[in-house]
Amino acid sequence: MQIAIVGAGIVGAATAHELAIDGHDVTVFEQRSAAAEEASFANAGLLSPALLIPWAAPSLEGGLRRQLWGAQATLRLAGGTGRTDLAWLWQWRRAARSPNAPATLAALARLGQYSLARTRQAAADMGMDAETSRGTLLLLRTAQEQARLEPALQALREAGVVVNAVDADTARLIEPGLGPELPLAGALHTPEGESGNCRLFAQMLRYAAQERGARFVFQARVQAVGSAPTSLRIAGDAAGAVRRFDAVVLCAGTATAALLRPLGAALPLKALHGYSISAPVRDECHAPQGAIIDPHHRVTITRQGQRVRVAGGAELGQSGSAAEPEHHAPTLQKLYHTLSGWFPGGAQLSSAQVQVWRGARPMLPDGAPVIGASGMPGVWVNAGHGAAGWAQACGSARIVADLLAQREPGVDVQALAMRRF
Ligand SMILES: Cc1cc2nc3c(=O)[nH]c(=O)nc-3n(C[C@H](O)[C@H](O)[C@H](O)COP(=O)(O)OP(=O)(O)OC[C@H]3O[C@@H](n4cnc5c(N)ncnc54)[C@H](O)[C@@H]3O)c2cc1C
Repeated sequence: MQIAIVGAGIVGAATAHELAIDGHDVTVFEQRSAAAEEASFANAGLLSPALLIPWAAPSLEGGLRRQLWGAQATLRLAGGTGRTDLAWLWQWRRAARSPNAPATLAALARLGQYSLARTRQAAADMGMDAETSRGTLLLLRTAQEQARLEPALQALREAGVVVNAVDADTARLIEPGLGPELPLAGALHTPEGESGNCRLFAQMLRYAAQERGARFVFQARVQAVGSAPTSLRIAGDAAGAVRRFDAVVLCAGTATAALLRPLGAALPLKALHGYSISAPVRDECHAPQGAIIDPHHRVTITRQGQRVRVAGGAELGQSGSAAEPEHHAPTLQKLYHTLSGWFPGGAQLSSAQVQVWRGARPMLPDGAPVIGASGMPGVWVNAGHGAAGWAQACGSARIVADLLAQREPGVDVQALAMRRF
């Protein structure tokens, strides 16, 4: 089949790779000049367990009031927050309390496991390593902190993920760089947990797909998608010109909703912005060895080769106006503070090589992506992976390839279908 993919983030690159493996004639249209320039650029890089990534699912985040207000607030309404943002928040709150929430967690846990295996397989096939590190440690400041995560832990165990409860001394043996100052009641350790460099992996997938014949067309912004016949209109083409395909897969991250809207499909996708700070390792003995999650601050610390990356923050709405500079200084301070609190002396935070990034999680209100048919002939969707797009990309891509070929996918995708909206 002749298949067009819109978007060359981690999800689009993985989809191109899987469809090229199946022998399709694949063309990827990307508005930027390279792969992984938007949400996939400098995310935290946690691959597994995906369900423990902060903001992975609304039912794990506690009440909306606690998220939004008070000293422990974790979600920020940035300048320009409008009525649609507030309506979306209401949907998020409803999804957290929905009777479907356990089924969604179970589906996400299975997708995470499936995707991890597919990512490892792709890395092995390409003979490359994207700065991966093994082991994930979720730090508990108090014994009570685990209670909020209990539904996720149950879903992970049912999906076959080994998560061990360890005491503070054992946690410090696993991560010898952990500073003594912050309180640590214990930790949850996933020995098979993994993190890596999402952007690097997306670029590797791009080259692997190209080797199998896929074409990547950069600086090509898709203006409109057509169904029956399936087509794309690309900015810069002659007026009225369309390009025809047998199928189109939308992997455009947060922009997917705008592409679907003229076709009559409403996808409640929002950008939940966050930040990452990457800094060179200062001292190996004091730096993290694997991935660390601080559920209290919703912050993740990972190794990216010779760099340490701390990521967190959640903002709805638009910042970037004069009244609201693009980077929210208190959020960045919290990230610096959390990293130097847990790993004092581990990273060179005053180095000129420190990279600060702000990116958008393409988020649907139930935290799960849409993978599969759009309901319009020839138009497929692989988008809305929220806080876990890197962790779910390779699995989601294989599922789309199987569905397109009318094969039974490796995991049950009912909870991830477009029709739930
Ligand atoms: C702070 C932070 C931390 C995160 N941590 C993690 C983590 O630890 N683990 C994890 O798994 N995930 C994490 N994520 C989430 C992850 O980054 C995203 O889910 C993932 O990158 C989404 O990938 P994507 O390919 O769908 O979107 P994108 O990477 O945004 O790709 C979409 C692409 O489509 C292109 N595009 C859009 N519209 C058009 C158009 N009209 N025409 C042509 N091209 C178009 C864009 O230019 C873009 O390149 C984090 C995100 C943030 C912000």
